[in-house]
Amino acid sequence: MPDIDQQEGGCICGGVRYRVTGSPVIVAHCHCRDCQRGGGGGHSTGAMFPVDRFRLTGPVRQYQLVSSQGTRVTRSFCPTCASPIFGRNDGAPDHVTSKRPVSLLCRA
Ligand SMILES: [Zn+2]
Ligand SMILES: [Zn+2]
Repeated sequence: MPDIDQQEGGCICGGVRYRVTGSPVIVAHCHCRDCQRGGGGGHSTGAMFPVDRFRLTGPVRQYQLVSSQGTRVTRSFCPTCASPIFGRNDGAPDHVTSKRPVSLLCRA
């Protein structure tokens, strides 16, 4: 993956925008039950960034759940179009996982 200095993305309706600096720490498919429910498919794809390299513009709504590992997960989504935006996990408090990595990597 080329080193990406700054990338921006957004939700479907455009009400939420986000910007990341630098390359993700990891990009991975997650097949846990919650990601299957959240994405409506066999997995969801996430790109993890240090929290200080993730900037959000616009309102989000959140819900919390307990992961299969017992950690508390907060998922944020657009209140208008319901696009998943990012997740936080108290097992990795210094990181944010973008739930729309293609919108970052493909300059959507
Ligand atoms: Zn939206
Ligand atoms: Zn998952």
